Amino acid sequence: MLRKVKDVFSSLMLVELLKGMALTGRYFFARKITVQFPEERTPMSPRFRGLHALRRYPNGEERCIACKLCEAVCPAMAITIESEQREDNTRRTTRYDIDLTKCIFCGMCEESCPVDSIVETRIFDYHGEQRGDLLYTKQMLLAVGDKYEAQIAADRTEDAKFR
Ligand code: SF4
Ligand code: SF4
Repeated sequence: MLRKVKDVFSSLMLVELLKGMALTGRYFFARKITVQFPEERTPMSPRFRGLHALRRYPNGEERCIACKLCEAVCPAMAITIESEQREDNTRRTTRYDIDLTKCIFCGMCEESCPVDSIVETRIFDYHGEQRGDLLYTKQMLLAVGDKYEAQIAADRTEDAKFR
């Protein structure tokens, strides 16, 4: 009975409303933690595993030597490689596809690569409107590498001391 009287009294005095207003007021003046993405970004680890890229050496030569270790180690079987021997007797890929709808972003391809060719970048805000849009070809992966090489190289340098 006493509890019911207390509830009615609280209801009449709008206690719950005042509690809610107090909470709103407290956060209104508190330090804001909402990030205005995409203009603002949160700090990121150099080890972030986002969109893949294929890298080149400074002279423009592709790093990838078509050893297929990344293809063999990929647990999702997301990588498809075909290769051929060039006239200078080096081997290079003729096809290097990653199906990002299969990829689980485990980073094992990057770990397995002996020449730091396939890497995962900080890019996470990409999308595809059709399933095929997320099948990244060699040319697309090289283009990502070319565009973000400075950041990719800086991240590898930053992480090198822990390897
Ligand atoms: S990140 Fe993992 S799942 Fe994705 S392509 Fe590399 S090895 Fe395969
Ligand atoms: S990306 Fe690296 S691991 Fe994969 S085939 Fe090329 S050299 Fe080998």
